[in-house]
Amino acid sequence: MRMHDIIEKKRHGRELNSDEIEYFVRGYTIGDIPDYQAAALCMAICIRGMSDDECRCLTYSMMHSGDTVDLSSLPNTVDKHSTGGVADLTSLVVAPTAAVLGLSVAKMSGRALGHTGGTIDKLESIPGFKTSLEPDEFMRQVRNIGVAIIGQSANLTPADKKLYALRDVTATVDSIPLIASSIMSKKLAAGTETIVLDVKYGSGAFMKTPEDAQRLALTMVNIGRLMNKKIGALVTSMEYPLGHMIGNTLEVIEAVKILRGELQGNAREVSVHLAANLLSLSKGYDFDSALSAVNNAIDSGASYAKFLEWIAAQGGDIDYITNDRLPVGKYSRVITAQRGGCIVSANGEKIGMTSCALGAGRTTKTDVPDLTAGLILHTGLGNRVEAGDPIATFYTSDERKLDDAEAVFDGSLIISEDKSQYKHPPLIYKTIR
Ligand code: URA
Repeated sequence: MRMHDIIEKKRHGRELNSDEIEYFVRGYTIGDIPDYQAAALCMAICIRGMSDDECRCLTYSMMHSGDTVDLSSLPNTVDKHSTGGVADLTSLVVAPTAAVLGLSVAKMSGRALGHTGGTIDKLESIPGFKTSLEPDEFMRQVRNIGVAIIGQSANLTPADKKLYALRDVTATVDSIPLIASSIMSKKLAAGTETIVLDVKYGSGAFMKTPEDAQRLALTMVNIGRLMNKKIGALVTSMEYPLGHMIGNTLEVIEAVKILRGELQGNAREVSVHLAANLLSLSKGYDFDSALSAVNNAIDSGASYAKFLEWIAAQGGDIDYITNDRLPVGKYSRVITAQRGGCIVSANGEKIGMTSCALGAGRTTKTDVPDLTAGLILHTGLGNRVEAGDPIATFYTSDERKLDDAEAVFDGSLIISEDKSQYKHPPLIYKTIR
């Protein structure tokens, strides 16, 4: 077999077979196939696409390029995955809630990159919290309390790590088969029996339109089903940050408010739907019963109690949570509306970039984020503001970042007297189950 022939075959739009895909993934992972040939194949895939069967083979080969986790000794294992968003704190609400409902949440999460956040950084903003556990500690914790979230093990899907880095610099990230196989290889290697995906659309997401996000969701659900998983997906809006607080500590604070029943709104709604889908897929509940079980877990305080138990089990100091002591950036600035009117549009990506400019994110994998940095939005899409009203407060531990962040934030919220310009993007565009 020759890599040259595989590239040529795909360039002509023909279907690759499983041996060819395995040859490419294995050869690239061990360094036998050079970057320039892998990049040429990725570009051909971007342009020509892949069939369902090719996507399944690519996912399977990447999933088996490194370690896979065996969770078969645990009951009802579940995982949720978001394709990346701003103020997307749902894992912090879904994980303890699913555990309350008898599901085993054995989850590996990622870190922030670019304008989107990552659950592991958020959890690390709780003093003492350990995001790395030995495999036997991880299994024991899930067995005992129903939930553990850790960072990805170093040898999970090495093929994806290499390919993703290559795609990043060769303009081959936004291809549905490549994104779907990248995400699903990691989810399948992580070993849970049920998976619910939250595929984002809008200005703050990879997929700019709901139709494209739905195509990505269907491709991933299809791969999961072909691999015998119980799997579903929501397609949800990232036209606007999901919550009002953006940044690592700030998102933990908002999640805590939701878990205490102090806050309704979009972040709670998406979290509730994700947890209800997990419950209904994993245990066969009809969806309405699952929804009321989830709401009841939150409203009764059971999810919050489980959250505290989980944080303490991984070494976190829960006194910072129970006494509202989590530290936010020492320097702050209030941003006010320059004119009166209705907020007719919001740019999720710009708002995420503002949080990065305040120090909360990473532009390269080696950056160390300021966990106390970020911003709080005081208003949202469709609301009326008057000139001079506060629309956001910035937080950072580096005062010099405030001016830059203000420049990045400029134009994030479009205020107009003409309310008819405001088109309400649906929060949950589709549910696939
Ligand atoms: N997230 C991933 O893990 N992979 C992609 O290709 C895109 C987003």
